[in-house]
Amino acid sequence: MNNTLKTNVVIIGAGPAGYSAAFRCADLGLQTILVERYSKLGGVCLNVGCIPSKTLLHIAKVITETKVLSQHQLLFGEIKADLNQVRIWKDKIINQLTKNLYNLAQKRNITVINGYGKFINDKNIIINNNNHITNVIFDNAIIATGSSPITLPFLNIKDPRIWNSTDALTLPFIPKKMLVIGGGIIGIEMAYIYSTLGSEIDIIEMSNQIIPAADEDIANLFNKHIRNKFKLMLETKVTAIEPRTNGIAVEILLKDNKKYIQYYDVVLIAIGRIPNGKLLNTTQIGIKVDDFGFVSVDKQMRTNIKHIYAIGDIVSQPMLAHKGIHEGYVAAEVIADKISYFDPKVIPSIIYTEPEVAWTGITEKEAKNKNINYEKSIFPWFASGRAITSYSQDGMTKLIFEKNTRKIIGGAIIGTNGGELLGEISLAIEMGCDAEDIAMTIHAHPTLYESIGLSAKIYEGTIVDLL
Ligand code: FAD
Repeated sequence: MNNTLKTNVVIIGAGPAGYSAAFRCADLGLQTILVERYSKLGGVCLNVGCIPSKTLLHIAKVITETKVLSQHQLLFGEIKADLNQVRIWKDKIINQLTKNLYNLAQKRNITVINGYGKFINDKNIIINNNNHITNVIFDNAIIATGSSPITLPFLNIKDPRIWNSTDALTLPFIPKKMLVIGGGIIGIEMAYIYSTLGSEIDIIEMSNQIIPAADEDIANLFNKHIRNKFKLMLETKVTAIEPRTNGIAVEILLKDNKKYIQYYDVVLIAIGRIPNGKLLNTTQIGIKVDDFGFVSVDKQMRTNIKHIYAIGDIVSQPMLAHKGIHEGYVAAEVIADKISYFDPKVIPSIIYTEPEVAWTGITEKEAKNKNINYEKSIFPWFASGRAITSYSQDGMTKLIFEKNTRKIIGGAIIGTNGGELLGEISLAIEMGCDAEDIAMTIHAHPTLYESIGLSAKIYEGTIVDLL
């Protein structure tokens, strides 16, 4: 052993869940060690997830909006991205944010150790950094080791033309023809970026709806937007992939059981992520991990070993940064003997394309499955002056209410800035607002968030249903 340290809390993994837990632990006066296998803090979200994808999506949106205005002869000139400058811009943003994290950790006297952490027993982990070993004896540990992209079960070849989201975000080149396997959030965002930068895109989705997690009406409206941008194949499967000199040969199985081969310059696999639950000797020391790799926890983020906690992608769906951040706060507070539970009414989901697609609380699908007596109200954006000025008239704001109490339990928005507007709906659900609370609140005019007030007014019967 090169070094032995003792601490109140050791956190393994410095993604959004891990660094948030570390900051909260330190702020609550706990001696805190944060372990990260890579040289940069921030995890998937900051380095190869939320932040690089949102940087590229912002550029893609600006290009899209400019092109729309050009089509109406309001702007002139060809719009082209300089790929090298785009890469530099993206890396600059990532570096700025990782540096901020180091500073915030330093300010709080958090000991950051680089290296791969593994449990030796339920009181001890070792961290290996190029054979330099640090031994940490802890009172409490928090597992925050995140998730990794899933690949196709039959795919055992590596080829520089077969990508996952991490590869795609390095922007190796702009393929002429690209297949995106998976019509969920990550697949759609990547398809939007690459199609705006010039690729011809096909999307294959196994289920019968794009964005399978969202409600059908939201998915259908989004479909209208992407119809001319991507070729979407639903209820379709990829059954084989073979790299050849003239492209990647993909065997495609259609819903009528017909198979055919199609060639692509690049295939991007975006079929989900798997938790890194079994990689740390968790099961060897008796921590319960389910078959998929999720570490089992209670509402205080405790595993079955009471002083070992787990947070973030490693514990459950939805694998989203804000869920992990909140779980991190809960774990830290429980360790510091505060009363804290993870029991949210909302975990918002957002697709940051143009238009944005965003939903929060209970979807209609979930309401039906759970036999909730619900009613909905929809405000179409063609009736919003602000939506028309933003060229976003093909949008909608949908609110879902519990019928007996008229309390809001869910909502969805499709349209420009939908993800930002969703904040009001999330807060209303958490605060237990009913339709009247929302309808009576004065919303500024003309704004896009006015659509939330108007949707509640439609439900209240104060204005007529516009559909
Ligand atoms: P991670 O961010 O995965 O961090 C885990 C950390 O643990 C990593 O840094 C890893 O290196 C480290 N680690 C693992 N094992 C060990 C070990 N044994 N020892 C030491 N260190 C270890 N979510 C959103 O909310 N909004 C978005 O817009 C969004 N966009 C995304 C876009 C893409 C392309 C992807 C892939 C994901 C996106 N996500 C988004 C999901 C989000 O990135 C994850 O939910 C989030 O990063 C999970 O945080 P985490 O802390 O649980 O794990």
